[in-house]
Amino acid sequence: MSNQENAEVYDFRAALEKLQSVPGQYIETDHPVDPNGELAGVYKRIGAGGTVQRPTRLGPAMMFNNVQGYPDVRVLVGLMASRERVGLLLDTPPHQLTQRIDEALRNPVPPVNAGPEAAQCQEVVYRATDADFDLRKLLPAPTNTDEDAGPYFCLGLVLASDPELGTDVTIHRLCVQGRDELSIFFAPGRHIDMFRQRAEAQGKKLSITINMGLDPAIHIGACFEAPTTPLGYDELAVAGGLRQQPVKLVDALTVNAKAIGAAEIVIEGVIEPGQYVREDQNTNTGHAMPEFPGYDGDANPSLPVIKVTAITTRKNPILQTLVGPGEEHVSLAGLPTEGSIYHALDKAMPGFVSEVYAHSAGGGKFLAILKCNKKSAFDDGRARQAALLAFGIYSELKNIILVDEDVDIYDSDDILWAMMTRFQGNRDLIAIPGVSCHVLDPSQSPEYDPSLSAKGLTSKSIFDCTAPFHLRDKFKRAQFRDVDPRPFAPQLNLDYP
Ligand code: MN
Repeated sequence: MSNQENAEVYDFRAALEKLQSVPGQYIETDHPVDPNGELAGVYKRIGAGGTVQRPTRLGPAMMFNNVQGYPDVRVLVGLMASRERVGLLLDTPPHQLTQRIDEALRNPVPPVNAGPEAAQCQEVVYRATDADFDLRKLLPAPTNTDEDAGPYFCLGLVLASDPELGTDVTIHRLCVQGRDELSIFFAPGRHIDMFRQRAEAQGKKLSITINMGLDPAIHIGACFEAPTTPLGYDELAVAGGLRQQPVKLVDALTVNAKAIGAAEIVIEGVIEPGQYVREDQNTNTGHAMPEFPGYDGDANPSLPVIKVTAITTRKNPILQTLVGPGEEHVSLAGLPTEGSIYHALDKAMPGFVSEVYAHSAGGGKFLAILKCNKKSAFDDGRARQAALLAFGIYSELKNIILVDEDVDIYDSDDILWAMMTRFQGNRDLIAIPGVSCHVLDPSQSPEYDPSLSAKGLTSKSIFDCTAPFHLRDKFKRAQFRDVDPRPFAPQLNLDYP
């Protein structure tokens, strides 16, 4: 490994430098690109993957150096759009990321307040009180499809605090609505929305910062949800746990809020009490943007408004984005999902579930594969109990596939093999009807199933693809001799063992 491959990642630019040292993980283009529709269309073909309609593929992170209309800002997409790349950025083999995240949950490191010397994000300052201020001209927010309600900031880490409840960081859907206005979408129950509602009830503004271009540990830490990170839990402590050093916060310049000192770009602003806009008021498309299940979300008829007070950036800033659905979302949502499930199961039944994978097909949220280590007939039931616990830990999980120790949970063919030979639909499919899950799955609706009383309710299913313990001798896989293949095929550069 080169020096850079071992180099410590402490911010966005260090992450990019590290990727540049590893073949296949990073490309740049000087070809001019339109942020309105074209940029996402290019990356769909190069590296989106996940739930995006084919043709797509896994590929490198990509820097667009020449964004039409924005000579001073480059755009980077796909930083976390492969599990292998996230492994590199977190110094962990990709199949041990779950356990690495569990370690961070056990050893959180809270953020610290730093002085102005840590405010790289404030090297350049644009105030909304300036006559010519227009965020639409300063930052190339991409429009991902021609149906989008408008340009979106897709990786804006919103940071807000409540005087009694504490601080929260979460990525929210942010649509550009005007020269100094954004709309913000909150899925039901999100913690910053609770802060907002409490402020609104008192007629107060909620100060926020939107932080973009970050150490990926911060993004992944921020995607944890309750009960793993309950209301009032500052998820920046998970990022600190992943790096074993605190995230440095600085004072925003125009609002009473903190910002992430090393961010590329920070938007400062306030959520106004009682002010709402229709998300697609400027375009009337009826759609919001492509969401993680792979469909266009509906434009929301009434969303809170962020009044922007300032934009601060590093010199020559890089705007970080993602295309909506895809493998980047799988990393962002899935690693916290599987980390949370593993963390809880390891406490409840130590050693029984050795691996958890939040599969790409569910965008990192809908599908989890659990590898169970059955040692007795009683464990036939513990496997199903593990699935029930996982549903309790992560409410947006829809389907769970249980497999035995001899199955590679990262290999979809191997998972389906287990389903073909260790699963009988009448006895191994357990469906739990009418449970809350996620509004962005179009099958979770009363139109699809009249027995569901509202959108976002679903039948949660356990596919028990483990062999019954008492029949384990019948389910022993054919054992080939273990031979080192390298002398026979040196040209393939195989790994062994
Ligand atoms: Mn939270």
